[in-house]
Amino acid sequence: MQRIIYIAFDQLNVAAGAMLIADKANDHIVLVESQRMLTTRRWHKQRLLFLLSSARHFAKELTDAGWNVTYLKSATTIDGLREIKQKYPDSEVLCATPNSFELKKSLTDFGATFVANDFFLTSADLFSIWASGQKTFTMENFYRAQRKRLAILMDGTEPVGGAWNFDADNRLPPPKVHDWGKPSYFKFDEIDDQVISELPSGAWGKIDGKTWGTSRTEALAQMANFFKNHFKEFGPYEDSMPGESWSAHHSLLSPYLNNGLLLASEVVEAALTRFAQGDIPISSCEGFIRQIIGWREYINGMYWYLGEDYRENNQLKADRKLLPLFHDPAKTEMNCVRSVVSDIEDRGWTHHIPRLMVLSNLALVTGVSPQEYLDWMREVFIDAADWVMVPNVIGMATHADGGVLMTKPYAAGGAYISKMGQFCKSCKYDPKKRTGDDACPYTTLYWDFLDRHAETFATNHRMFQQMGGLRRLSNLAEVKVRAAQVLHGLDSGQI
Ligand code: SF4
Repeated sequence: MQRIIYIAFDQLNVAAGAMLIADKANDHIVLVESQRMLTTRRWHKQRLLFLLSSARHFAKELTDAGWNVTYLKSATTIDGLREIKQKYPDSEVLCATPNSFELKKSLTDFGATFVANDFFLTSADLFSIWASGQKTFTMENFYRAQRKRLAILMDGTEPVGGAWNFDADNRLPPPKVHDWGKPSYFKFDEIDDQVISELPSGAWGKIDGKTWGTSRTEALAQMANFFKNHFKEFGPYEDSMPGESWSAHHSLLSPYLNNGLLLASEVVEAALTRFAQGDIPISSCEGFIRQIIGWREYINGMYWYLGEDYRENNQLKADRKLLPLFHDPAKTEMNCVRSVVSDIEDRGWTHHIPRLMVLSNLALVTGVSPQEYLDWMREVFIDAADWVMVPNVIGMATHADGGVLMTKPYAAGGAYISKMGQFCKSCKYDPKKRTGDDACPYTTLYWDFLDRHAETFATNHRMFQQMGGLRRLSNLAEVKVRAAQVLHGLDSGQI
């Protein structure tokens, strides 16, 4: 009997998920473009283009390969499936287990049957076994277990290179002169142009060129470009924020991994094959492998393990409205923030350090509502799947879970951004100053943040040093006055 095989927009791969059990002769492949998904948020234009065009390309490739495919536009995903079910009332609806709580619930209520989701290397059950045996959810412990379980970069029972982690080698600031190369750019085709013409008028951001590929072929080209031109220097500079390159030596593969155009297994295999050629330092290879088999799997595992209500956490009671600068870089004179938000406006992407130490650090020390910040991150990043953003924002970025995921908040003054980036020299603020009109807002607000939460952090041994620094601060009263001015200025878009 014919079955309906539903393919979600983040499972676009013939070699994984429900496509693995599909039968070309009998089954009906269905993709649904949900109008609600398109219009209920102020999405970045490039995020919509990427997701919709990738799905339309995938549907076309399947059709060209002889599959029986229906691509529907409906009010909601479930409305689309209802419509197809009316046509084939006796057909069972199958799909790979969805990647979000919301879609999983609506498909469960609809009566869909789930097959294994192998877009990740670690099933939710396997992760749960690991997590339930831990006192603290330290990613490094999970990562080491992954290395052993998957036998990746292992020399028997020992890690290749003699260490599990080469982070100490991977913290170089941007050099004064360096060839960062160029990321790949792609050409819009007819499908892309059609999607662009249909984008909702309220969408945010710009489309000035095609940064993100929208087909498997383009995703593979992006991967090839990384391994050929950037892999070698990825590690040492992975945390640096050079002024003259928005991508540094990052792979730019997360969007494709997150919508299924690339599989984690093939990216890992390609990295190990390239490493075997002998000219890639272990620090680059290990750092990259950790992102894929460590961080990515850990965050996805924690998303399911911590449950649906985890996103509502607000343990620091942060209730400030989203700062205007997050949607309009002209609303700030902080050079780092203006530059990073402009990058996001241009491409929907910036690497993990600007995300954590510029954007999230600002949301944290200003006390922006974690839920408002989460919504913004989901809307503007090209790779912002729900499972990525919920643990990253609630746990890591805003410390809103009270330390479940990370034992201490990622709050920092201007010194870190000054060391790892090239923004401060041309900024009107001074990263070393915490008071005065030219004090760096991060530096002022860092101390103000520690003081506001002094009671909470007093019992956190990992905050011992920072709290000692606060106690020794000679001019806290003055800092608090400046902090109030800075917060007011940020709220009104004038700092
Ligand atoms: Fe950012 Fe402060 Fe440096 Fe200005 S001085 S670029 S606000 S860190």
